[in-house]
Amino acid sequence: MEIEELKKEQCYGCSACMNICPKKAISMKQDEKGFYYPHIDQNLCIHCGLCTKACPSIQRANKNEKLIRSYACKNKKDDIRMKSSSGGIFTLLAQYVLKQKGIVFGARWNKNFMVEHSFIEKEEDITLFRGSKYLQSNIKKSYKQVKIFLEKGKIVLFTGTPCQIAGLKTFLGKEYENLYTQDFICHGVPSPKFWKKYLTYKTPNDAEITNINFRDKEKYDWDNFSLAIDFNNKKRYNRINTKDFFMQVFLSDICLRDSCYACPYKNHKTLADITLADLWGAKEIIPSMYDNKGVSLAICYTKKGQELMDAINPYIEKQEISLEKVGKYNKSLLKPAVKPENREQFFIDLEKQDFKRIIKTYKKRFIGIKRFYRKCKGGVKKLILFR
Ligand SMILES: Cc1cc2nc3c(=O)[nH]c(=O)nc-3n(C[C@H](O)[C@H](O)[C@H](O)COP(=O)(O)OP(=O)(O)OC[C@H]3O[C@@H](n4cnc5c(N)ncnc54)[C@H](O)[C@@H]3O)c2cc1C
Ligand code: SF4
Ligand code: SF4
Repeated sequence: MEIEELKKEQCYGCSACMNICPKKAISMKQDEKGFYYPHIDQNLCIHCGLCTKACPSIQRANKNEKLIRSYACKNKKDDIRMKSSSGGIFTLLAQYVLKQKGIVFGARWNKNFMVEHSFIEKEEDITLFRGSKYLQSNIKKSYKQVKIFLEKGKIVLFTGTPCQIAGLKTFLGKEYENLYTQDFICHGVPSPKFWKKYLTYKTPNDAEITNINFRDKEKYDWDNFSLAIDFNNKKRYNRINTKDFFMQVFLSDICLRDSCYACPYKNHKTLADITLADLWGAKEIIPSMYDNKGVSLAICYTKKGQELMDAINPYIEKQEISLEKVGKYNKSLLKPAVKPENREQFFIDLEKQDFKRIIKTYKKRFIGIKRFYRKCKGGVKKLILFR
């Protein structure tokens, strides 16, 4: 099979093919829904087959040793935890690698508030990657850069979605002792086109965005996180996730990438050394650690993952837990999202209708969910959100 023969749901948009092509024949182009897919310039292609070999959908990389130990954990520093999505564990992993003069790859905002991968070498830059950005990050040339650093003998921590980790592994084509990989339980990634339209709608004509935080815990708390957008006119939009239109659409699964509905990395099929997540249901699973500032779930799949966990041990509060209860509160651990019937219609409307009208049409759908949500408590709320 060639990469251009892949069905939409088989391509994760990881850019491994673009990174490996020796002729720069592959570019990532947006489809009508705004998702990125590879496009081959046939005038440049020499049919070497490298892109097929690097594609994680065509070539499945070797599975992990499957150590599987899981922990409830949180950073002892509350200020870092408050700025992080869950328990602030990523920051500690990054610090550990940077202290050894290593390199950390992760997802950051670009100047247009779209998300892209890059790397850091200094601890003060961890803030660029801290916090979940609920969009697909553009890998750009990251895989190539990872390989250069690895071959120079540098320690590299690569963080991203499970499919981006898989893309890196097939791109590299062999194991490296000095590579650590960290992913997260992944709900899926929403359409960049929808995000762009949402941002345009939210930004006043006379202002510019200066910062965005998908997981603000200051206004409410961890359970009831809000989406905060700061503008250069000192104004701030900050709304609880259940009332913000972008988050409603994202969490209703209507605008996810095709591959997310058929994701093959669920149920412990990740290729990463360690998986991080929100320990939704912490109040019920481990009440002694719950304070509504964020508790992480960390699952170590390999010896390297366990080595990372052991290295950060002095800086965390942790307790080993069974995964049995976790799946009940965090459905994305086990199964891909289900494609809603009106997904195609949503994208047709997104193309044709004015954004105000889209909000009016689709909000109706979420009012029912919201009323039901209000009646539910703690962990059950998370079942509705990150199901
Ligand atoms: C798109 C997406 C969907 C998610 N879905 C779930 C879910 O269903 N259930 C769940 O429990 N957790 C989910 N998470 C993970 C969760 O939100 C936290 O990222 C995780 O718990 C780590 O939190 P932390 O406090 O340790 O670190 P944080 O500092 O919050 O995490 C930052 C890390 O996330 C990476 N990152 C941020 N945005 C992106 C992105 N767009 N693409 C790739 N990497 C990114 C950064 O590079 C860095 O490694 C999701 C995250 C993302 C980005
Ligand atoms: S076959 Fe080789 S030259 Fe052609 S697009 Fe794929 S990697 Fe590039
Ligand atoms: S749900 Fe699966 S396919 Fe979608 S972004 Fe996450 S890891 Fe990739």
